[in-house]
Amino acid sequence: MPDREELEMAAGHAGADLFGVADIARFDELAPEKHPRSIFPETRSVVVLGRRIPRGALRGVEEGTNFSNYRLYGCEWLDNQFTSLVTFRVCEFIEDAGWEACPLPNLPPEVPPMGVAVAEGRPAPNVMLDLDDAAVRAGVGEIGYCGLLLTPQFGTRQRIQVILTDADIEPTPMLDGPIDPRTPQFRDVCPFGAFVGETELSVCGKKMLVAEIDYGRCRTCKSGAMPNRMHPAGRPDRIAAHCGRTCLDLLEKEGRVANRFHVPLRKREAWLIRPELDLYDL
Ligand code: SF4
Repeated sequence: MPDREELEMAAGHAGADLFGVADIARFDELAPEKHPRSIFPETRSVVVLGRRIPRGALRGVEEGTNFSNYRLYGCEWLDNQFTSLVTFRVCEFIEDAGWEACPLPNLPPEVPPMGVAVAEGRPAPNVMLDLDDAAVRAGVGEIGYCGLLLTPQFGTRQRIQVILTDADIEPTPMLDGPIDPRTPQFRDVCPFGAFVGETELSVCGKKMLVAEIDYGRCRTCKSGAMPNRMHPAGRPDRIAAHCGRTCLDLLEKEGRVANRFHVPLRKREAWLIRPELDLYDL
């Protein structure tokens, strides 16, 4: 079976910035509709791979003058091409060692089933895994109060994909947290009232206080939030939104992100265009 260190090195050579492994037992608490073994019944390990979103890809949105470079280098090209290629290369490495490697892109877990079950007892296709949840189980990160995946390396800035494999790979320890300290400034990053409550998430025993978010508001947010590019049922992409950028800036200023810069992300007062608040008040 592949050694975890060798696999991590191969992933690094393929371009991965983030790497973690969960053994399948860490998914025991999930329903069949969200379980890796519903896709690949012999799964023994779940490998999570990620690439950073360059901080500069957020610059145009932070200044309010260019949204395309985030859309391409932070979303579409990064996910569909650069990260996919890393995933494919790592699949090749695993399969060269004689183990099957099932690659999964980060499709929104909110998408409802699109077909009928092929047999009694099997969930209807398509089973969609929550890859942020998988990243927590694989020790790659945590879910921040703002609802985004946070990693110690890059804070909010990454795209991740997953490989299911029948190889037994030594799991990565789950992260001791928290990355985001859940202090008032981290809990107050939405100026538009979309944080409507809070709840405690528990993932494989790891507890994380997170905001309950009214995604209807986020869908009309004009602060850099983008519609889910995979499916209309998916949550909007909020990494470049005001909340995501503010969270990243706070994490960096508190020294909670390993990838350091000589200048802060937020150099000027943040611009804001309020969504149509009257729509919310109807
Ligand atoms: S996307 Fe906009 S409305 Fe939603 S939480 Fe972020 S800042 Fe608030």
